[in-house]
Amino acid sequence: MKISKIVLYDEPTVPEIQLEKIREFISNALNIEVEVKGNFFESIDHDMCKKIATTRIFDLKNPFKVHTPSTEEIQIETQNKDMSNRKEMTLYDGFELQNIISKHIPSIENTLHIILTNKLTATFDQNDFRYHARSLISSNPTIISTAGIIEAPAKPKQYYLDLMTNFSENRVEEVMKKYKGEFLEYHDPRLYEILEGYVLQAILYYKTGEAFCDKKECRLFNAHWQKDLFYSQIENKKICKHHQEIINDFNN
Ligand SMILES: [Zn+2]
Repeated sequence: MKISKIVLYDEPTVPEIQLEKIREFISNALNIEVEVKGNFFESIDHDMCKKIATTRIFDLKNPFKVHTPSTEEIQIETQNKDMSNRKEMTLYDGFELQNIISKHIPSIENTLHIILTNKLTATFDQNDFRYHARSLISSNPTIISTAGIIEAPAKPKQYYLDLMTNFSENRVEEVMKKYKGEFLEYHDPRLYEILEGYVLQAILYYKTGEAFCDKKECRLFNAHWQKDLFYSQIENKKICKHHQEIINDFNN
């Protein structure tokens, strides 16, 4: 796909994104025009809020079924609150959400829209027949879920074991404290560096149709573990030869 412009939509409830820095990174790396816009969900009307609320998932073990939203659920969509301090995260079907958003995005030729959101997106996997949280829903528009980046790549194995064997009332807080720093938390300042990698992945995926990189030493690596995410995007922070070549002739 030819891309001559990229539009990034901000998620103001997650200031750690630092979208202006990401804009600079992308426009320098790819030598392309990148426009930053405000929150996509700010200007949507009641009807669209209602449609978005229909994509909520309540049953992780069955394929998508349109949800009939309550007044309160529609209300939540109109407010776009900070979701990070909610005890229970709401899951949204990523493809359904993407489909609804796509009808409200101006389709300008060769422009890729990337929407950042604090909504936790998930997709149904036909292989193990259940929903999984996803950070990235590729297409145009692409959706990048900041909650997905935090929730989808797995934390250390020992974290889950500790959680299972700790029976105190504050077990989640206690175990999280023990492993602090080993995985992303909400309002983590490392988020923007990691997001640079995700935005780059989204663009190259749309451009080439080629799946992510299988080398951990590349920012296009699709990390399944939080520790790999830190390695690819922060510690190593490089791009493999193959992907560097693609980036080099991005618009040739
Ligand atoms: Zn690579």
